[in-house]
Amino acid sequence: EADTDTYLIDVTLLAGRLPARPTFSHKGTFGHALLLAGSRGKLGAAVLAARSCLHGGVGLLTVQVPAVGYAVLQTAVPEAMCLADAHKHELSELPDLKPYNAVGLGPGIGQDDATRAVLEELLCTAPVPLVLDADALNLLGANRSLLDLLPPDTLLTPHPKEFERLTEPARDDYHRLELLRDFARRHRCYVLLKGAYSCLATPDGQRYFNTTGNPGLATGGTGDVLTGLALALRADKRLSPLDAALLATYAHGRAADLAAVHTGQAGLTAGALPHYIGRALQELT
Ligand code: AMP
Ligand code: MG
Repeated sequence: EADTDTYLIDVTLLAGRLPARPTFSHKGTFGHALLLAGSRGKLGAAVLAARSCLHGGVGLLTVQVPAVGYAVLQTAVPEAMCLADAHKHELSELPDLKPYNAVGLGPGIGQDDATRAVLEELLCTAPVPLVLDADALNLLGANRSLLDLLPPDTLLTPHPKEFERLTEPARDDYHRLELLRDFARRHRCYVLLKGAYSCLATPDGQRYFNTTGNPGLATGGTGDVLTGLALALRADKRLSPLDAALLATYAHGRAADLAAVHTGQAGLTAGALPHYIGRALQELT
């Protein structure tokens, strides 16, 4: 297919896409995000995504975690409001979605049947933009009929293994990028295939390759940070679904590049990344 369907995510492409924060702005200007994350032993994913969402500029953040994670979240992320799920170890219920401008589901959730039911209910009822990651994607891959329920413009952020669970094993990297384009078109969603040079595929069949990031990101939790950042930008009513996805992808990698100046690549941790997100975004405004 024509080269004109392929773009690089760099400062030139992103120029003018991130509006500055208006002087007379307030919490409501930047949206209220709902993050559904965590399960026993994986509350860290919820904490990382929540911190990242806040550093991404969201107006308000509510996090729902299994009951076991309530004190963890309230202590680790005091800026966020917290809902305790009725279930102790896994997510099992969907709250009323009316207050929210975007919903993120996936980091650290596991693949319990009760959690699959939450995903299904979310897909059937969501009146708001969705970001799906991690075990939300694995649950979709294990229950392919749910793919027909994906609301248009949903953002999915799989790494290659998660992506192949959604589709089929790829013969090679080129084939995987073909499958990526086909999948985004068929399901009318945005799919970010993560790795070095992450590739965002759009419902129109375009592909955007990221230019930021470094191998310091090859460590646990960095994907959860991306989910939180994407959720923050998706909750901002001023941004299109495409711009939110492009900006999140670029700023996540840029934050890693800024962090690595101080920590080196080996010393980069997911927990350090959110502190650089604000600067990465500021460079784009
Ligand atoms: P996950 O696999 O969900 O933990 O996500 C990992 C994150 O780190 C994604 O945003 C990847 O794009 C990024 N990442 C992983 N390995 C590399 C690498 N070698 N170079 C650049 N980015 C990477
Ligand atoms: Mg991940």
